[in-house]
Amino acid sequence: LFDALADQAALAIERIQLVADVDRARLAAEADRLRSALLTSISHDLKTPLAAIMGAAGTLRDYSGSMPEGDRTDLLSTVVDESERLNRFIANLLDMTRIESGATAPTASFHYIDDIVGTALRRAGKILARHKTAIDIPADLPMLKLDPVLFEQVLFNLIDNAAKYAPQGSTVMIRAWIDGGAVTLQVIDEGPGIPGGDLERIFDSFYRVQKTDHVRAGTGLGLSICKGFVEAMGGTICAGNRTDRSGAIFTISMPIPTEARNVEGLT
Ligand code: ADP
Repeated sequence: LFDALADQAALAIERIQLVADVDRARLAAEADRLRSALLTSISHDLKTPLAAIMGAAGTLRDYSGSMPEGDRTDLLSTVVDESERLNRFIANLLDMTRIESGATAPTASFHYIDDIVGTALRRAGKILARHKTAIDIPADLPMLKLDPVLFEQVLFNLIDNAAKYAPQGSTVMIRAWIDGGAVTLQVIDEGPGIPGGDLERIFDSFYRVQKTDHVRAGTGLGLSICKGFVEAMGGTICAGNRTDRSGAIFTISMPIPTEARNVEGLT
């Protein structure tokens, strides 16, 4: 009986190893496919603005002498705008690699969330110039343990998206409240919202709902950076849509550290 059982066990192990080998091969093939899709996407995102810069700069070099002032300004604006886009893309890529390699270890310290919202809003001032803002953050929220630089970047990315996808003149709302042992913070806009099937995937690197949306040329990296940063700080982030009207809602939940309650108690 013992020998029979041992034989059966050996057979089972062999079968498991076979399955594991097949899985390993499938995973390796999938990783290869993803890597080359990533490279194609990165190359495209680098080449598109670069081509625009080269075109505008070349035209300026060859014809700027005989060109009306307005055309010259337009071409120079193209050079500046597309350079900014390249710069943003490269900064996003660096942020991504830092998270993935674990190099972005958050330095946690205690902060009031409304201070960080204020900094992010000041930084987004130009971007939000054509939108209205509504802030609803109670003054008595507890301090949170987070990395202020990373948290500000998360807020900035969400505000930047709200301004990018919601029409001019619409309102971008930021609100926060205590929800059990956590603070919930939402960035809400009045744009088109996000199609239901895309709600999960928009946090994937390089995922964009409208892939051909060149007007609001994005990198598809902003939200994956948000997710990476929020999770690195012990929080969660998810996307949803408004039910009262069209618009997207991004919800961040950050745990209230027990020390914060003590700090609050002392102040
Ligand atoms: P992108 O650089 O394309 O904005 P993100 O990672 O920030 O990249 O967002 C991924 C995609 O999610 C966007 O391309 C867009 O389709 C969708 N999205 C993000 N924020 C919003 C929003 N506030 N309203 C509607 N769609 C949004």
